[in-house]
Amino acid sequence: MEWQQVFSTRIARMKASEIRELLKLLDQPGIISFAGGIPDPRLFPDTAFQDAYSAIFSDGAGAEALQYSVSEGYTPLRDWIAGEMGRLGVPCTRDNILITSGSQQALDYLGKLMLSPGDTALVGWPTYLGALGAFNAYEPRYDRLSPQGNRSAQDYADAAEAAGGRVKFAYMSVDFANPTGETLDRATRERMIDLADTLDIAVIEDAAYQALRYEGEEIPPILALEIARKGSIDACRTLYCGSFSKSLAPGLRVGWVCAAKPAISQLVLMKQAADLHSSTINQMAIAEVASTVFDSHVAMLRDTYRARRDAMLAALAAHMPPGVTWIKPEGGMFIWLTLPARMDGADLLARSLENQRVAFVPGRAFHADGSGGNTIRLSFSLADPVTIDEGIKRLGALLSA
Ligand code: PMP
Repeated sequence: MEWQQVFSTRIARMKASEIRELLKLLDQPGIISFAGGIPDPRLFPDTAFQDAYSAIFSDGAGAEALQYSVSEGYTPLRDWIAGEMGRLGVPCTRDNILITSGSQQALDYLGKLMLSPGDTALVGWPTYLGALGAFNAYEPRYDRLSPQGNRSAQDYADAAEAAGGRVKFAYMSVDFANPTGETLDRATRERMIDLADTLDIAVIEDAAYQALRYEGEEIPPILALEIARKGSIDACRTLYCGSFSKSLAPGLRVGWVCAAKPAISQLVLMKQAADLHSSTINQMAIAEVASTVFDSHVAMLRDTYRARRDAMLAALAAHMPPGVTWIKPEGGMFIWLTLPARMDGADLLARSLENQRVAFVPGRAFHADGSGGNTIRLSFSLADPVTIDEGIKRLGALLSA
């Protein structure tokens, strides 16, 4: 039997992530890697987690922790998140929160909830590769979201209709985006609500890096701005996706969606059908660690990552030849470089690995239309400032040559 014959049509669009494939090659000694956009494991609050897991068992909650639990998520954790969302300007209750297995699962569910084959998803060029991966399974068409507002709502609607579907949502990574490190300013966030209202579509607000701000004023989430206009979260079309992956630890796989109750109810049904619920014990441990060390831990992360960001920005200024430009991020893990138009990020990576032993991610994979060949993403989350300087020096030498 030819196995491919029994696969569904949606499989055709699911391909291995270039980044995951690449990461497999990077375990070699001597490589300076700016490729993986992952938290530094040396910074995990491991003692706090160790204490939390042992407290669960010594406090007699072991049976609860090991048992099935409700699809909505662990109540004390949903309450903690509702409080945290309130602090961000999003008044809500636990009924507006669904716990997911990472925010990645939220993206999958939201794609499943809204996209029929041929519908249009508005995304940035570039955008988070994992969002494209999640949505691809639902066979959408992508159109380029222009946050500057230089395309009319009608233009998006007409293009979607001509392609045989309708626009369903606009997806955006709002703070220190993966891959560009950019943050949407307040006016742009307001414009996104206008666009969504006019098109009568949802907004997926990906806030995976929200906690990791190193400078500048916090900007209210799109959801907060929409609530300010409409009075209540239950009147809003924005679906906020949060995550503990960058603030505490990704391995526990705990994220959340914060949205209007009717959307949450539908997503709960999807969660029941897909995996019943996220790991009970991990939700309990996150609830304990979040309620004890969240603020102090995040403050430490900010200080550490800020120093690495600053080291990378200084190294770029010192070592990059003219013609290479980059965006200064106010937080997160990434710096996005644009190379001269004739250069190709993937070719550069091959040469960089061979001659300079420096790794990064070529930018093309983040573009739904395959453009962006002359861009690359650098992550500063893993290396110390001295290594960052050395790696950027080598990359600068390669680019100058
Ligand atoms: N959104 C963005 C922008 C990301 O960069 C990531 C992780 N790289 C995710 C969502 C998913 O993270 P998680 O599932 O661990 O919450």
